[in-house]
Parts: sequence; structure tokens; C-alpha cells
Amino acid sequence: MPVVNLKSQLAAAMRLFRVPDDNADLTRAQFDAFSKQIPLLYFILMSNTIAVAYTYVNVAPDWLTMIVPSVLTVLAALRSFWWLRQRHLVRSDADILRNLRATNWMTLPIGAGFTAWSFALYPYGDAFAKSQVAFYMAVTVIGCIFSLMHLRSAALIVTLVVDVPYVLFFWATGEPTLKAIAVNNLLVSGAMVTVLFIYYRDFADLVSSRKSLLAQQAATQALSDENFRLANLDSLTELPNRRRFFAELSSAFTDAERRRVRVAVGILDLDGFKPINDNYGHSVGDRVLIEAGRRIREVCEGFGPQRVEFARLGGDEFGLVVCGDPEDDDLMRLGQRIGEQVRLPYQLDTAHTGLSCSIGFALFPSSATSAEALYECADYSLYHAKRHLRGRTVIFSSELEAEIRSRGVIENLLRTADFSTEMDLVFQPIVDAMSEHTAGFEVLARWHSSRLGLVSPADFIPAAERIGLIRPLTQALLARALATARTWPDHIRLSFNLSAHDVCAAEGILPLISIIERSGLPPHRIDFEITETAVTFDFVRAQQSIATLKAMGCGISLDDFGTGYSSLSHVHRLPLDKIKIDRSFVADINENPVSHKIIKSLAGLCDDMEIACVAEGVETRAQLDSLRRLGCDFIQGYYFAKPMSGDAIGDYLAKERQRLGDAGAKVVA
Ligand code: C2E
Ligand code: CA
Ligand code: CA
Repeated sequence: MPVVNLKSQLAAAMRLFRVPDDNADLTRAQFDAFSKQIPLLYFILMSNTIAVAYTYVNVAPDWLTMIVPSVLTVLAALRSFWWLRQRHLVRSDADILRNLRATNWMTLPIGAGFTAWSFALYPYGDAFAKSQVAFYMAVTVIGCIFSLMHLRSAALIVTLVVDVPYVLFFWATGEPTLKAIAVNNLLVSGAMVTVLFIYYRDFADLVSSRKSLLAQQAATQALSDENFRLANLDSLTELPNRRRFFAELSSAFTDAERRRVRVAVGILDLDGFKPINDNYGHSVGDRVLIEAGRRIREVCEGFGPQRVEFARLGGDEFGLVVCGDPEDDDLMRLGQRIGEQVRLPYQLDTAHTGLSCSIGFALFPSSATSAEALYECADYSLYHAKRHLRGRTVIFSSELEAEIRSRGVIENLLRTADFSTEMDLVFQPIVDAMSEHTAGFEVLARWHSSRLGLVSPADFIPAAERIGLIRPLTQALLARALATARTWPDHIRLSFNLSAHDVCAAEGILPLISIIERSGLPPHRIDFEITETAVTFDFVRAQQSIATLKAMGCGISLDDFGTGYSSLSHVHRLPLDKIKIDRSFVADINENPVSHKIIKSLAGLCDDMEIACVAEGVETRAQLDSLRRLGCDFIQGYYFAKPMSGDAIGDYLAKERQRLGDAGAKVVA
């Protein structure tokens, strides 16, 4: 047992003289610190050596005072130079360990060499010169221990190689002063070695704590990288999100500005997505979004030579940033490829549903000079596509710019418009298809702006919706329309258009109900016209509003049928009285077999569901005849009358009675 103990202690003691090979960070730190201090060590060694050699020049042989010190000095200078160069080199861990080991063992011959040289000089000196040797060796070894602090093993080797012979040598001289110096040196060296151990331990601790600090920093960085990734990712589709899109846009824009090249922004909106969500539920909707996103991403990634960044902005809206100097043709090509992919069938649980997409692009520098303005322009292009070129790609142009300008003008003037004097109402008859008697009038708003003249409702109604004025406008118009309708014969109905904001407002439909009640016109003489788009805006709210109006006794007509999402589920889920077939189908009923077919099937559908069918925009006798044959119940259009003022209605009805020769006819719509 004691033998084993002794062995392990011996092994531990031997380890003190070796460079540690199990801690690469420590050896690297040692190497760094060491390479800075070693030239100082050699400086101490050389200056001390020269001072001693100088004292002995005339008393000792030349080989001892000239040759040996010169050789030792040159070697020391070369080593210093080598170490100075190490500071700027990048070394591997193995390389560092190898060099430190070499240095460690080199201290042995160097220490022994200088010691032997000192002892060889000693006999030639007088008492002073002998003391100088003792002083030289003591000071040099302390200086060396100090400089070798970071490489403890080397410091210990030097101490051992120099101090043991030193103490023995000077003790053996029998000279009291030299013996005292020897003992003194022994004590100081012992103290130095203690300091060395403490310092070295602290140094090793510092290195390891720095290492764990770095590890901690790396872990924190990794965490924040992950947070950054998540904060920039859309959780459903795993595409870059809105935040990422705007960051991407801003940097792409700055880059394009600096390099004076084009960059484009695109906004993409899926057409027909809302009905999928409404009809099949959100989980199917989510799957469709993921799939559409995947397909578009694939197109973007495979697109060239431009680079396309793609992100989900929210809902069924996606964003594109096209970098690399794209031209209009490139954008159209990109839009077309995306459209082709989006239109491919989607595998749903219950059915295949065709989806398409509209894209609006805007190009820097032709469209806008800031990233924000560029986005706005792309948004407007998309709006234009959705309204006029559904499923297509629209690039922002000077014509659209003029449109925006006039939109802004309309919005501003509408804000200050006096609804009671500037707004007017006109009425267009809705005629029974068979008897040709007027069954009611649709009321249409007119704005006579003092600055712009007559503005179309197709322009100012959406403007009022955008600036939040549609509800007061609707209320003002409804009150006046009801007042006019009160003067009509009892069998004539009133059709009034409601906008999406009227039927989907959070406050509900109550203000309109109180207006109806105050008007004195029986609710059963009123039809409210609501478009499909308005209904899809917020189906649940719209359904509630419609149910309330219906409960009062009002009729409900689905307006512009065929232009919106045309989801038959609306027909089933809403308590409709009439469907108004959009005039775009009526216009070419006799020229386009598709339109003819659509109207035929819609009329059949209405018949089955016992809903009245109204054809809008009938301008010719031929159209009227076809519609009659297909079974449309009511007709509206310039063929019978253009919208007229309220004052003209009495005359109009009187003439009709004359023309039809049936003064007392009453048609129930
Ligand atoms: P709408 O409800 O589809 O109204 C029918 C539009 O077709 C009217 O245009 C009418 O003048 C036009 N029209 C009628 N017969 C013919 C025809 O034979 N040929 C042609 N080419 N056009 C015909 P208007 O008055 O310009 O109204 C445009 C749209 O503005 C309306 O479409 C409606 O959506 C909206 N609107 C009009 N007045 C109001 C209103 O008071 N409130 C709301 N919310 N919307 C309104
Ligand atoms: Ca209408
Ligand atoms: Ca219509």
C-alpha cells in the first residue's frame, strides 16, 4: 500500500514537470501568454550573462568569457525571434502542444548550460567576482521563474536544474557569505515556487471560466438565433412571415437603390379561398394554404435569372420580392407560372376545388421611390387585379397611378361632402318579365360633387367604405329612399343596396331597422340587395343581419350573382327571396353559349328553390326574349328604363299604365 502510494505520488510529481495534454484551451492560453513573455526572459538571461562575462574578461580564458557567452547569446536571440513570430501565427492545438513540450524540455539543457558556465567561471574570480556569480545566478533564476509563470512545468525544471546545484555548490565553498546567499536563495526560490503554484492555479481557473463563459455565450446566441428564426417564420406554412418580408423588402430596396437596378414587389391573393374555408372548415382551409404556399415557393425557388423572396403576409395573402433587375416580362412570366401552379387541383376531403390567384406587382424605380410606396403600389395593382382582372397579374402603371390620384381626390372631397345636398337618388324599374308591369324600383345613389361633377357610385361607394363613411351614407340614403317610396302605389317595391360594411358591422343592423320603422313604409315592400362579396366578408355577421331584416318582413336579394365567389352554399344558407344575375352574363346571352348556359342553370336553380330570378342590364328586345324563354321572373335594364329621378316616377308609371292598357294591374313581386 505505501509503495503504491509512493508510486502515485511520484507520478503526480512527475506530472508537474510535464505540459498538460488534456486541456487544449489551457495550453493555447499558455502559449499565447508565454509567447509575449519569453522575449523578456531571454532579455534577462542575455543582459545578465553579458554583465558577468564582462567582469571576467581579463581573468578567465577567452572561450569562457567570449565564445560560450556569444554562442549562448546568439541562441537566445534566435529563440526570442522565433517566439516573437509565433504571436501572429494561427496554430492547431496539436502544434501548440508540441511546441510547448519542446520549450519545456529545452529549459533543461539551457538551465544546465548556464549553470555549468557560471560554475566554470567561478574559480577565476576574486571575492567580488565570485559574489557576482552567486548574485547573477540567483537573480537570473528568479527572473526566469517569473517569466515562466504560465508554463509551470518549465519554471519548476529551471528552479530544480539551477537551484539544487547552486545551493550545493555555494554551501560546499564553506564561505559564510556565500553559504548565506545560498540559503537565502533557497528560501526566496521556495517562496517564488509557492507564488508560482497559486498563480498557475488562478490562471488555469481563469481559462476554464472563460471557456464556460464562451460556451454560455454560444448557447445564448443559438437560442436567440432560434427565436429570431421563429419570429420570422409563419407558423402554419413555415414560410417567412410578414415581419421577415418587410425586412427583406427594405434590404432589397436599399441594395437596388445603391446599385441602380430594378427591384419589384408583388402581393398575391388567392381567389376563391374564403369559400373553401366557409364550406369545408378551417382545417381544410389550412391544408389548402400550406399546399398553395408550397407550390408558390417551388416556383419562386426555381425561377431565374432573378432571385425571388416569398413570404406569407397573413390570411390568403402572400408577398414577393423580386431582386436582380427584373423587367415587366419577367414579372408577367413569374405571375403566370405561379398562377398555373395555384390553379392545379387540390385534394380535399370532400371535393376538388379550383383556386386561382391574383397578383399585383410594382417596380422600382418606375413606380415608386421608397420601399413603403412600392408596397402600396403593388397593393393597388392587386386591388385592380381583383376588381377587373381576377386571377391575373397586374403591374403598376401610370394609368393606375392616375386612378390612385383620383381615388385620393374622391376620398378627400367625400370627407367634406354634405350628403343632404350633394347626394341624389335615382330609381330604375324592375319589371315583371311576363306582364311587363313595374314591380318595384332599385334605388341608386348619385353624387354631384361641386369640384368633380357627377361621380359614379362604383367610385364613391368603395371610397366611402375605405374612409369609414359608408354607414352614415347608407343611413342618409335609406331614409330618403324610404320617404320617396312612401309616395308610390302600394304594390311597388323598393330595392336598396347594402354594402359589406352595412351587413358586417359590429354594431349590427339596428340603426337601419329604426330608420325603416320611423319611415312608415311597411318592411314587406322593401328588398335589400347584398352582394356575395359582402356576405363572404364576414359570413356569420352577415347571416345575423340578414336574418334580422328578414324577420322584420324585408326581402333579401343576392346581387351581382356570378361575379363573386359564386358559392352555391350561400344560396342554401341564406334566406334569399331573389337572385340578381349579373349583367355581364346578360350582355352576351345571345352571342356566348356559356353565358346562355349559366343563365339557364341559374334560372332553373331559382325555380327549384322557389326564389325569384332577376336579370340585370337588359338592353335589347332579343335579350328580353331569351331571358323570358329561360324563365327569368324579373327584368331590369335600359331596355325598359334608365335610372330616373324620384319626381319622374309618377309620370313613368302613368305612361306604363297607358301603354299596357291595364290601369289596375297589381303585380306581386
Ligand atoms: P348594381 O347594384 O349592380 O346596380 C346596377 C347598375 O347597373 C347601376 O349602375 C345601373 O345604372 C346600371 N345599369 C342598369 N341597367 C343597365 C343597363 O341596361 N346597361 C348597363 N350598362 N348598365 C345598367 P350605377 O348606378 O352606376 O351603380 C353602380 C353600382 O354602385 C351598383 O351596382 C351598386 O353596387 C352600387 N351602388 C349604387 N347605389 C348604391 C347605394 O345607394 N348603396 C350602395 N351600397 N351601393 C350602391
Ligand atoms: Ca344592386
Ligand atoms: Ca347588380
